[in-house]
Amino acid sequence: MDQAGAPDDTGCHILHIDMDAFYASVELRDRPQIAAQPVVVAHTGGRGVVLSANYIARGFGVRSAMPVTRAQRLCPHAVFISPRHDVYGAVSREVMAIFKAVTPEVEPLSLDEAFLDVSGAVRRLGPPAAIGSQIRRQVHGQLGITCSVGIATSKFVAKLASVHCKPDGLLVIPAGRVLDFLHPLPVSALWGVGERTGKVLARLGLRTVADLANAPLDTLERELGRGSAAHLSALAWGRDERRVTTGVQEKSIGAEETFATDIGDPDVIRRELLRLAGRTARGLRSSGYVAKTISVKLRRADFSTITRSRTLTEPTDVAQKIYATACDLYAGSGYDRGVQLRLVGVRVAGLSAASAAGTQLALGERADAWRQAEGAMDKITSRFGSGALRPGSLVTPDHSEDDRRS
Ligand SMILES: [Mg+2]
Repeated sequence: MDQAGAPDDTGCHILHIDMDAFYASVELRDRPQIAAQPVVVAHTGGRGVVLSANYIARGFGVRSAMPVTRAQRLCPHAVFISPRHDVYGAVSREVMAIFKAVTPEVEPLSLDEAFLDVSGAVRRLGPPAAIGSQIRRQVHGQLGITCSVGIATSKFVAKLASVHCKPDGLLVIPAGRVLDFLHPLPVSALWGVGERTGKVLARLGLRTVADLANAPLDTLERELGRGSAAHLSALAWGRDERRVTTGVQEKSIGAEETFATDIGDPDVIRRELLRLAGRTARGLRSSGYVAKTISVKLRRADFSTITRSRTLTEPTDVAQKIYATACDLYAGSGYDRGVQLRLVGVRVAGLSAASAAGTQLALGERADAWRQAEGAMDKITSRFGSGALRPGSLVTPDHSEDDRRS
């Protein structure tokens, strides 16, 4: 459903490209005989969830992240297929290679989704809409799957545009039409409006993005905290200054603490790691990033310093996860046997944008619960200052190994 006529794509340098029902599309490509049937990719045994469903299955109400048992009830005649992650990974690498042939400015959000900044490619390849069409043709021709492309002046509008034109579409939101596009949408369309914030906004009677844009800022600040209020208000007016970041750049976020006197007690060190993990996670959430690599820095009394790091299988912005990893690294260093330290630090690197759904799904339900709890703490902290609320173990130091690992 490419737009009729030629919308004005002047200045619309951001493309958000997302494969349509990625896993299911790959399976259908390899098994064209079931193309006309509802198809669900999922581990069927036990407590599996739907990883991907084609649009026919979605017509029966099947959705990603839904328990498989529910999907089976909704659509018993669907073809259920176990995921082949190696195949999806290989297709993903080809998708990203197509993007990178257009511009090096590619920010992958997940296996099948990326932002591209095409401002450097326009002279070579034509205007942004032409580039988007070319990529769509190439993905289909080369890989046999379809994708949708949103094109706008900012990342979040481009992402909303691709959602809007799915499946197999391309949508340009001209610079002068951003608010026309944005304001009729429900508030839930905005990045950062989850269930909790949605409830607060509903209680305030704010249903559309226009309602939110026109709400008094002090009301929003009172209900949501300063940071969230400013963030949502800016988005509601179409303001999003985030740039496309290629992940190659060595960005990191962290915090460290030099002690007044050297400390060897591992319990005290771990409490400090918890505090630093909390600060680091807040830094990630407030800048909209998740991180893949976690490191600790340990400096002994004689100033000799070591760092230890670990790369996670899934990026995170959850303090509990960062803390658990930092404790493992501390234990792995051997310094937890009473070595006197004058400084400890926690740092995260390998940052990528916290894409809304993909990341949360990958984090799993439990991590998501932490994420929501910590998001609620961000709100209180932004209202009352960082002394207002601390994780329990900062108050009661006897947290067990099991707690840390949960
Ligand atoms: Mg997708």
